[in-house]
Amino acid sequence: VGRRLGDVGEHAWIAALRRRVGRWTAGGRVVVGLGDDAAVVRPGRRPLLFTTDALVEDVHFRRAWAPPRVLGRRAFRVAASDVAAMGGRPLVALLAVEAPVRLPAADLDAFVSGVAGAARRAGARLVGGNLAAGPHLAAAVAVLGESPGRVVTRAGARPGDRVYVTGTVGGAGLAIRRLLAGRPARLPVPPDRSAAGVLLATVASAMIDVSDGLAQDAGHLARASGATVAVEAARVPVAPACRRALGPEALIFALTAGEDYELLLTVPAARERRLAALVPRLGCRLTRIGRVVGGAGRVRLVDPTGGTLGLPVAGFDHFVRRSRRSSRTS
Ligand SMILES: [Mg+2]
Repeated sequence: VGRRLGDVGEHAWIAALRRRVGRWTAGGRVVVGLGDDAAVVRPGRRPLLFTTDALVEDVHFRRAWAPPRVLGRRAFRVAASDVAAMGGRPLVALLAVEAPVRLPAADLDAFVSGVAGAARRAGARLVGGNLAAGPHLAAAVAVLGESPGRVVTRAGARPGDRVYVTGTVGGAGLAIRRLLAGRPARLPVPPDRSAAGVLLATVASAMIDVSDGLAQDAGHLARASGATVAVEAARVPVAPACRRALGPEALIFALTAGEDYELLLTVPAARERRLAALVPRLGCRLTRIGRVVGGAGRVRLVDPTGGTLGLPVAGFDHFVRRSRRSSRTS
């Protein structure tokens, strides 16, 4: 049989795929191929951003957690988040749905309305898709976006750059943990960071969205850039609800829980003045949480005295049991 996905792990499998298929994606009209938040293609004069994301019942959500309209909104936002992370805004979306035969038709109506409404509010349009029968509700949203200015990849961070994150972290992960435990909580809908992403791309050297946990996503950015990201523990904007609920464990939870869909970016020191001028227009909070240093592409968590704190490297991995969502409820 050979190794199974559970032995390999989601991120290791994707890394191996990148090594194998690098030549599929290079050159021609492909500017950035497999391995970043979104692909960058240039079919005409302007680069376009292209990405897809899936929402699967009993993996990403349970149907009782939220009305179908909210699930649809979430499906669009998680896909659009990858476009924002490249400095783009969404233009059009396609929706492929798999639904059980017994699903009430009104639920599917509401789900699709949720996707279309979220797209419209982001300045995009849902232009088509596909419907198939399946054992549970699942949806894949593909988003095509444009970058009005610079496209920012994960790979541009350099020693000396400052590290920033939008919004707060840990709140969405906490809500999911409560829902998994059968406790009342509102299913978090990712924030729309496309306006912030476009503005931040004018000064960022690298950017990624925080979907799998700040520690793990900072690791992706660090590896792609070939530099180390040093995160100052005391500066991480942990969501107040997360701090209240988890006390001293809140920081590590917030760094590893995922689901935040905030933007993590690096900015060269010489562009910090320009960054400060952008902050009032971002529509969200922006916090400096550390800096980029030399060395192998890793993440270091440092305490206020400069010492290194232990940081569990695991964030979310679809195929590795120890970091599965269910294990994060413990
Ligand atoms: Mg991403």
